[in-house]
This record gives sequence, structure tokens and C-alpha cells, in this order.
Amino acid sequence: MQISSFKSGYVTLSLFAALSFFMANPVHAEQVVVYSARIEQLIKPMFDLFTEKTGIQVKFTTDKEGALLARLQAEGKNTPADLLITTDAGNLWAAAQAGLFRPYDSQVLKSNIPEHLRDPDNEWFGLSIRARTIVYNTDKVDPDDLSTYEDLADPKWKNRLCLRTSKKIYNQSLVAMMIAEHGEAETENIVKGWVSNLATDPLSDDTRAMEFVAAGRCDVTIVNSYYYGRLMQKNPDLPLGIFWPNQKSEHIGGVHVNISGAGLTRYGKHPQAAEQLLEFLSSIQAQKLFTDVNMEYPVNPNIVPDPIVSSWGRFKQSSLNLAKAGELQAAAVKLMDRAGYR
Ligand code: FE
Repeated sequence: MQISSFKSGYVTLSLFAALSFFMANPVHAEQVVVYSARIEQLIKPMFDLFTEKTGIQVKFTTDKEGALLARLQAEGKNTPADLLITTDAGNLWAAAQAGLFRPYDSQVLKSNIPEHLRDPDNEWFGLSIRARTIVYNTDKVDPDDLSTYEDLADPKWKNRLCLRTSKKIYNQSLVAMMIAEHGEAETENIVKGWVSNLATDPLSDDTRAMEFVAAGRCDVTIVNSYYYGRLMQKNPDLPLGIFWPNQKSEHIGGVHVNISGAGLTRYGKHPQAAEQLLEFLSSIQAQKLFTDVNMEYPVNPNIVPDPIVSSWGRFKQSSLNLAKAGELQAAAVKLMDRAGYR
């Protein structure tokens, strides 16, 4: 008994000594800790460049969006994380609602990131744009017959539409933004129209939906453009085309865009390094990497996307603030349920 209590006292003392050493030694503070829902290969190149430029080490943990949010919440004031990077404005909005972020009023972020892609209260910031658009079978569809998301509810698309499941936040955000534009009643009619045009049950993911279109099991679907890029890189001969909806002046909105983005955690231990990293991620150098590694679009309008992405042409994006995707997400989920979209 005596020996073990002596030992634990010794351990406590050594730990205390080590901690005081680290706290007193600023060299060891030159790091920043990131929780990232973007996988390592999509984020490490930006961190490496940041370290190269600043000498600040980036420690990071990757996991699913929900798991990281739950972890931040459970850790509270004790969290080691300084920055949360996650996909979809709905997730960023939820993190802000849960009080996990602290606002950061930064001229650098404001000038690098268009207003609709960041939180009006400065708690989260878009770092890359993902465009959710129409992909069609080039053997079966004349692109002149395509126009808007809303038009896919028209009976002319009966048994020709494939959709990914409504359980995915990408579709919840899409429908939430439609509610913001059209109101609930009209959006519900549109979603009901989609459901009655479905050629198959909703599919598990965007790639599968495009494979169904390519195989002729349906003619048209709605997916994020980077999945189109990845699939076409693997199988360049697939009869698939990309179409930017809602572009004409008489159409409401523009292409539905979403973001991957980040916020500074409320209880991070390296606030200044985290601010520096966040601003760096919006810079021209880092923004180039976002488009190169995942065929996404930069949020920084001064960057030309990678050549494949550029080859899909330019488009007008919806300019509604993405906070709406979070605010109206619960309404969107209920609406899709009422409309029979599973
Ligand atoms: Fe994705």
C-alpha cells in the first residue's frame, strides 16, 4: 500500500513537473490541433504547406462529422481541438448552435470568402465549394430539355429520375435551400414530383446514382460535381454529361452549392495559431490545393479551378446564405418524409 501510494505520488509530481515545463516553454506552443471530417489525403497537403510557411505544427484527428461534433461537445472546456473542419453548411451550423465555435471577425476571411459562404455571425467559414448539380445520360437526354431542379418534377421525367437517399445531409441541405427560395408548400410539391418520377428506390450514394444513369436504368440524377469528376476519371467512356441548372434569368437562384468549412473552437488552447491556420486555408495557395485534391471549387473567387473542373464550364451559383441550410434542415427532413422521399 505504502509503496504504491509513494509511486503514484511520484508519478503525479513528475507529470506536474513536465506540464510546468511545457507551459513555461513557448517553443512547445507552436502547434495547432485540428479535428477534421475531411479525410487525411484531402487535408494534409494544406497542413504541410502551412507548417512549411510558419513553422507551426498541425496535429490532426480525422473522423465522421457526427463523431467529431459529439467529441467536441463531450470534451467541453478540456478539448485539445483548436479548429473543426467539416463538410456541409448544415453540420457547421449545428456546431455553431451547440456553442462549439467562437466568432472571429477577420478582414482576411471576409475578403477571401464571399459573404453567402460564411456565417453572418463569423462562427464558421466556407473553405471549398461543392456544387450539387444535374448529371444525365448523353445517349438518352438532349441537354436542351434540361433546365432546373424544379423541372425534374415535371411528368416528362416520369420513370427517368434517380435520386440519392434523403438521409444524406447533401439532399437535406438542397431541399432546405429550396424552402428558403420557394417556401414550404411549393417545395413540397416539387419534391413530390421528384418522387413520382423516380425510376428506382433512392440510392445509397452519388456514384451509384450516376452508375444507374450510365447503365440506362434512369436518365438523370442530382449529384455533387466532384463525384462526377472522380467517376469520369476512372471511366472516361461513360455516357454521362454534367448540366448546370437554374442559369437563365427567369430561373430562381442558381446552382445549389454547399461547402466544406471550418470554425475556431470555443475552448481551443492555441487560439492565435488556429486563427492563422484558418486564414491560411482561405489564401490563394491553400485554395488551389482544395480544388486540386478533390475537384471541388475554391471559395476564393480569385482562383481558377483545376483544368478538369474548369472544363465543365462556369456557372452562376445561388447566392442565398448557407446558414439557411442549417436553419431549415429540420423542416426539410420533415418535408421529404411527407413527400414520400425516403
Ligand atoms: Fe461527398
